[in-house]
Amino acid sequence: MVTESLIPATLIPGDGIGPEIVEAVVAVLGALGAPFAWDYQAAGMAGIEAAGDPLPPATLDSIARTGLALKGPLTTPSGGGYRSVNVRLREAFKLYANVRPARSLIPGGRFENIDLVLMRENLEGYYVAHEHFIGVGDDPHAVAVSQGVTTREGCRRIIRYAFDYAVRHGRKKVTLVHKANILKAITGLFLEEGRIIAKDYEGRVAVDERIVDACAMQLVMNPWQFDVIVTTNLFGDILSDQIAGLVGGLGMAPGANIGATAAIFEAVHGSAPDIAGKGIANPLALLMAAGLMLGHVGRHDLADRLARAIDLTLNEDKVRTGDLGGTATTRDLTAALIRRI
Ligand code: NAD
Repeated sequence: MVTESLIPATLIPGDGIGPEIVEAVVAVLGALGAPFAWDYQAAGMAGIEAAGDPLPPATLDSIARTGLALKGPLTTPSGGGYRSVNVRLREAFKLYANVRPARSLIPGGRFENIDLVLMRENLEGYYVAHEHFIGVGDDPHAVAVSQGVTTREGCRRIIRYAFDYAVRHGRKKVTLVHKANILKAITGLFLEEGRIIAKDYEGRVAVDERIVDACAMQLVMNPWQFDVIVTTNLFGDILSDQIAGLVGGLGMAPGANIGATAAIFEAVHGSAPDIAGKGIANPLALLMAAGLMLGHVGRHDLADRLARAIDLTLNEDKVRTGDLGGTATTRDLTAALIRRI
């Protein structure tokens, strides 16, 4: 008998609701026969407890070895405290593309029949955090200064990724989102490079352009006009939560962070400390992220089966957690999903 070889993958349960939803996802993937051999590692507050470090070297080593990780949400202290582990992971593995698909799964949500993908540049823009204060008189924070950075190479990588993704997934159109009318350098370069790259895809993928503020409004007025959206870091951060809101909120939004040598998959939501430990968290965003991970390793068959099981559980069995208006616990939903696998 030929046994399928397993793919080593790092698994980070994370903080807050992380361990609860990771347990659910591992159970569903097990029932699906997903080919991952999990290497459990700590990060975030759990990393501090386990190894005195929010991003322990063992976790970094594991991802460097596997090149593939599924990550639960990590708590980031606001203001002071340690730097976001999510940002550090992006930098450590040069995860330049943040991919956020948004699909309507349950009727009666804000919008139906939405199926779009947002690609956010993940390493540049204002997130390089060249920031400082200038004191005036007795106020040390009288003036705040921030500098962002955009490189042609950084624009090229993410825009090419978006167009290649469109070709691979049979998508028809890529929309370049920018603010080149005002931020003529930092987002003008993105638009300039986008127009150059679009020429290579003429006849295969259509291209259009939107200024970010108009795009935000049109996403609410007529979201069906969009297919693949590609944009810079800060705009992508904001628009990706907006598109999550179009299809049922953060509990339904998966994300992938893609680099040349590693890819990390996660839910868009955070560690939800308000509901942690109550057994009521919705594991679907992380489960859909695992679906993206299956696609990433070429197991589209399993990704499709998983998507079907999610659809049947939500819409035929009507098993839903509280954030989707249901009464199911995380475990109820997990059991229902496994019955549909
Ligand atoms: P959050 O996403 O954790 O929670 C926002 C609201 O959505 C809360 O009411 C929460 O209960 C609800 N919610 C989120 N996920 C849910 C789920 N799966 N099921 C049901 N309800 C869900 O955002 P926050 O409260 O602003 O942040 C909490 C912590 O998470 C912070 O430390 C923040 O820095 C961190 N965070 C981490 C990530 C990440 O690791 N990728 C992303 C965002 C925020």
